[in-house]
Amino acid sequence: MIQLQNLSKTFQTSNGQLIAVDDVTLSVEQGEIFGIIGYSGAGKSTLIRLLNGLEKPTSGSVTVNGQEISSSSGQALRSARQKISMIFQHFNLLWSRTVEDNISFPLEIAGISKTKRKERVKELIELVGLTGRESAFPSQLSGGQKQRVGIARALANNPEVLLCDEATSALDPETTDQILELLVDINKRLGLTIALITHEMHVIRKICHRVAVMEAGKVVEMGSVLEIFQTPQQDITKRFVAQIN
Ligand code: ATP
Ligand code: MG
Repeated sequence: MIQLQNLSKTFQTSNGQLIAVDDVTLSVEQGEIFGIIGYSGAGKSTLIRLLNGLEKPTSGSVTVNGQEISSSSGQALRSARQKISMIFQHFNLLWSRTVEDNISFPLEIAGISKTKRKERVKELIELVGLTGRESAFPSQLSGGQKQRVGIARALANNPEVLLCDEATSALDPETTDQILELLVDINKRLGLTIALITHEMHVIRKICHRVAVMEAGKVVEMGSVLEIFQTPQQDITKRFVAQIN
């Protein structure tokens, strides 16, 4: 379970202070797929970077499965972050490594033996549907296949939480649907908690259980996906819902 308590992040810029995340309190339940939607600059990526300890909050706290990320450092932060994995819009693959070796990379870092790595990589390749493409390089893959590698790599060390930053924004609608279906499958099979940020309501409707709407750093509306679609309260939420209807 992820708990954000009065979480804020302020950046110093040449024009003064910029409040990127403004007093956000919310929790994501174990096994839930939680969506965060907002326009560009709303603070979504900053929020997700706070979640995995890549940014330190200006105030407030982030707790993941009982462990406070926001106040940890050194070994405690590293061990907390092992439970949290992430996938990205532009996949962030290692371009000079094959599919297999990309997926193996976090296992190498974790000091897993070569035999165990081979076994685990095979499992992961089957899980994400890339059997037969083990020796391909990222440049030889479609966007959807690249994201499958990203997902397999993210799952390699059995995380409890998967963070997705616009993970389907670079993909066409059909490939987006396939990747979203894979995420649902992983959520069900592994009980993985997923926090997903997007600017597309379609993504929210397709896989999320609950959603928070962000505007100028604040969560302005939050509820089940059904509630948000049926009775949106804020103008911004109505605009997002209108993307689909
Ligand atoms: P997008 O949909 O375009 O990815 P976003 O919702 O992810 O947008 P963020 O990247 O979180 O938005 O940015 C929120 C605000 O914080 C923006 O105004 C951005 O310019 C600012 N910001 C983010 N990171 C920094 C930083 N390291 N230094 C200064 N300002 C930052
Ligand atoms: Mg962003």
